[in-house]
Amino acid sequence: MTALFEIAEPGNGRIKEACQTAAVGIDLGTTNSLVAIVLGDGRPQAVSIDEGSTLLPSVVHYGASGEPGSVIVGRAARRLAAQFPSDTIVSVKRFMGRGSADPETLRLSPYKFASGDSGSVVRFEVARGRKVNPVEVSAEILRALRSRAEERLGIKIQQAVITVPAYFDDAQRQATKEAGRLAGIEVLRLLNEPTAAALAYGLDKKSFGTFAVYDLGGGTFDISILKLVEGVFEVKAVGGDSALGGDDFDRALATLLLGHAARDPRSVRIAIDEAKAGKERLTTEAQTQVLGRTLTRAQLEEVIRPLIERTGPACRRALKDAGLTTNNKLDGVILVGGSTRVPAVRAFVRELFGLEPLADIDPDEVVALGAAVQADLLTSDSPQHDVLLLDVAPLSLGLETMGGLAEKLVQRNTTIPTNATQEFTTFADGQTGMDIHVVQGERELVQDCRSLARFTLGGIPPLPAGLARVAVTFQVDADGILSVTAREQLTGVSQSITVKPSHGLTDDEIERMLLSSIENAEADVQARMLIDNRVEAQRILKATETQLDANGDLLSNQERSTIEAGMADLRARMALTDHHAIKDAIDRLDHDSAEFAKRVMDRGIDRALKGRSVGEFEGEVGAHAAKAYSAHVEQTTLYEDK
Ligand code: ADP
Ligand code: MG
Repeated sequence: MTALFEIAEPGNGRIKEACQTAAVGIDLGTTNSLVAIVLGDGRPQAVSIDEGSTLLPSVVHYGASGEPGSVIVGRAARRLAAQFPSDTIVSVKRFMGRGSADPETLRLSPYKFASGDSGSVVRFEVARGRKVNPVEVSAEILRALRSRAEERLGIKIQQAVITVPAYFDDAQRQATKEAGRLAGIEVLRLLNEPTAAALAYGLDKKSFGTFAVYDLGGGTFDISILKLVEGVFEVKAVGGDSALGGDDFDRALATLLLGHAARDPRSVRIAIDEAKAGKERLTTEAQTQVLGRTLTRAQLEEVIRPLIERTGPACRRALKDAGLTTNNKLDGVILVGGSTRVPAVRAFVRELFGLEPLADIDPDEVVALGAAVQADLLTSDSPQHDVLLLDVAPLSLGLETMGGLAEKLVQRNTTIPTNATQEFTTFADGQTGMDIHVVQGERELVQDCRSLARFTLGGIPPLPAGLARVAVTFQVDADGILSVTAREQLTGVSQSITVKPSHGLTDDEIERMLLSSIENAEADVQARMLIDNRVEAQRILKATETQLDANGDLLSNQERSTIEAGMADLRARMALTDHHAIKDAIDRLDHDSAEFAKRVMDRGIDRALKGRSVGEFEGEVGAHAAKAYSAHVEQTTLYEDK
């Protein structure tokens, strides 16, 4: 949207200058980036910014040629890529929020990485020994988008809505925001790409519906399921493949054309470029010439069919995650990304979803157009201003609990923004601190999840185990950024952090984590039960021991030896890996000590009634009572203060 600001000269009140500022939508893509804006007519349009095109290739060249320190962005940079591969960064989006320690990073590219880095951020070593990180490279793209659009439109651009893939995690979102800030842009909101596409189609104006967004770009494939309820969007599920796109079509076609002839890297590069151009022509033509050979659309389709089919499983899984099947309840499929122009891709989508896909809006521009619509909504006073756009958390978020278990507070695919609070208690008597370890992933054991952050809540009043109450709240904001707060309920002491992990996850890793959680589900549950039971056994043994010492006189010798035998049995069984065996012993000991616990409690109450201190009374709550309490608070396990 554009707003007119009139700047009055102090003193004479005369209008000195009129200056327009604008908020735009930016699609910061892996292959191409765009800027779009809503102008006076209320309709979004993409701005022409690179050699007459609305697409700016997301390529940044660092001055090996030209002025020292000069930076070239877009088509001109792309032309330099073959000659200066390590000084020309393509697909920087793949590195956003990624640590150099990530093995994926090294696998990815022809670049030189700066050595001696801490591991928290990747840095590319480019011309003249200059070192740049992915945020800085992205900022160059954003700066180019901004200045070229400003020049073209004759207005100042200060604010933007920038789109990100729905699966982007916290670190990747933070990195994108930072790039915006570095480019001098106020980032109004990070918007998920599929949600932007739905906005461009005006789907938010309907009252309800469920839509799939099928996005096949140059190097990535993303599928998202959006649900609209009375104008409110939710992303119900996301999926995809971070290494699948039009570039693979080009390579497959080049391989066909080159055959198994000896090839040098230069001829391969030329063949790929030719294949790409030929592929694009075959979208509208039945046949074309590539490298002196006639190529038909049917030949292209045969080569790329297996690649297109690879998008199927992710689509089916997303539908399933969203509670749908291929033939029920989907109201539309939106096509996004340059590669969805390929007729065979459209045919595949049509067949997979049993629907004619929506493709009226240019699939290259649709995300940027939607972002422009959102920027307009956020900066205008229109009644639609508070349109709620809801997204999902791509992976579950949770805490480490006693025994190395992951307790999930926010389930994967939960709509965000979201809040979740759970109460925890202390494990040891007099414990005054709790170690809060925030993890991400689907697995039951912390060692199989990703560690996001740790902090310690101190100042817990020293109480018997199980009595302190600490409420831990996870808050995921609309941009997908997580804050964790731990608050001790009695004293109100609290501690919180915003999670800024040093490196993020790729959708590949997300995929891997999901797959492994499915494969390991059964083993994980067994492992969890075993740990749960061992922790519970330890707790009941300790509590029973304490009571035997303090109130052993309440038992006959017979009763005492029954309880002691039960304890010995439980201790022996704790070494077993059969969680049922441990549970049985716990239940038996619990049963055998029930009468004892009752007598201890009666004595406590008697003493309390006789005016003895509450403190002493609390110290005497029996094993049985403590267990009842722990069942009541649901979770009784955190850390011993070390
Ligand atoms: P990204 O989202 O990764 O930035 P885009 O959505 O811009 O990528 O898609 C780029 C891909 O689209 C490239 O592989 C390009 O060859 C392909 N593409 C663009 N136009 C056409 C066309 N007319 N026919 C077939 N493929 C096309
Ligand atoms: Mg894209």
